[in-house]
Amino acid sequence: MGSDKIWEEVLKEAKNHISEQEVNTWLKPIKVGELRGDFIQLIAPNRLYKNWFEEKYLNVVKKIFNETLSIEAQTIQVVTKSSTKQKKHTAQTVSSSVTIDVYTTNLNKQYTFDNFVVGNSNNFAHAACMAVADGYFHTYNPLFIYGGVGLGKTHLMHAVGNRLLEKFPKLRVLYISSENFTNEMISALKSKKMDEFREKYRKVDVLLFDDVQFLAGKQRSTEEFFYTFNSLYDSQKQIILTSDKTPAEIPEMEERLTTRFAWGLIADIQPPSVEEKTAILMKRAELMNIDLNEKVALFIAENLKSDNVRELIGALIRLSAYSSFNGEPITIELAKKTLDRFLIKKDKIITFDTILKVVTEYFNVKLSELKSKKRTKSIAYPRQIAMYLMREKLNCSLSEIGEIFGGRDHSTVLHSINSIEKKLKKDKELQETIKILEKSLYN
Ligand code: ADP
Ligand code: MG
Repeated sequence: MGSDKIWEEVLKEAKNHISEQEVNTWLKPIKVGELRGDFIQLIAPNRLYKNWFEEKYLNVVKKIFNETLSIEAQTIQVVTKSSTKQKKHTAQTVSSSVTIDVYTTNLNKQYTFDNFVVGNSNNFAHAACMAVADGYFHTYNPLFIYGGVGLGKTHLMHAVGNRLLEKFPKLRVLYISSENFTNEMISALKSKKMDEFREKYRKVDVLLFDDVQFLAGKQRSTEEFFYTFNSLYDSQKQIILTSDKTPAEIPEMEERLTTRFAWGLIADIQPPSVEEKTAILMKRAELMNIDLNEKVALFIAENLKSDNVRELIGALIRLSAYSSFNGEPITIELAKKTLDRFLIKKDKIITFDTILKVVTEYFNVKLSELKSKKRTKSIAYPRQIAMYLMREKLNCSLSEIGEIFGGRDHSTVLHSINSIEKKLKKDKELQETIKILEKSLYN
């Protein structure tokens, strides 16, 4: 992958932050000149571009390099390329940016079902989205998708929109994040264009409303959204919502909304398994023409600290950028070298002390209390978890664990471990806690 490919990735991601028109006008004409360590040079067609770009878009681009592509961009230098032909061309594009796009879908064409890898973690949400994309509107209305950051919620939503428009080009599909909805509402209020604002949202056939949790606590936008929702729902228009939590779990969200969110279907997306992560990497590599061997993909999938797919893809891009800039093939060795900070340190030796440290820090309890005879829940529970982790990670005997905790006998230890194991089967919060603790153990 050369620098053009990297810039293409920046452009794709930028569409999630700024409008497509801005991307086409202001970002597309830029080229990557150099990429060395944490220094990136960008070439703008002329001074006008350079100044405008630096003022308006440099921060977004920097963020994308750092966060999405995992390419550290400490310094981004923007230079100009002066050529008269180029100037004429850009003058035209600049003037066209003044016209306002009246009807927009805000859809990102890259996010399709074809590019989406389906597995156990997301097949329910995927199936529900496919059903809506096939035109089954009333069955799952609203469709509410929830799951952690970077697990594909936005991707699926766009995929529905793109598929629907392929089949029914006249359908009015509108994608909007709750943040942009709020911003639009604020500027409509200021410019006294609330009627137009309402009209715009109430005439759509399919509303794709992303990250609805950000409406929480915002009274005015919640109110507006409530009326939009009712109006669309009553006229049997399709609504898809996403959130990082279930409706009931969103703090400060009005009940009249959360009950409505549960009227249709609620589908979750879980973090991907190692196999799914590998498949996602292979798919991405194929799309981006990166020569990635399945063994390397498996290595990254197994060892990346994060479960976030965006970061998984970021790791691939970072690896591929280093490979092309240094002319080295993509191997496990190169992955170890370039992704070091992002990988779990498997060879780190875990001891009784590491477990005690991680558990006391997480639960904010004192080591002396953890080792004491105290049986209050706030102490006993972390103690049981520490015992469980020792048994799981250290392959030690029950009496060794008993020793650590002030000479408890092995049956007490066994009882503690069993009780955690039992809870783990059902208790989602505990599952989450153990995951976090395991991660910190390897950090
Ligand atoms: P979310 O909205 O849940 O935070 P996104 O939909 O923005 O996550 O996904 C983050 C990135 O990961 C996007 O580039 C998306 O294309 C990619 N991605 C997520 N899940 C998958 C998947 N199952 N298959 C392929 N790409 C995926
Ligand atoms: Mg999203």
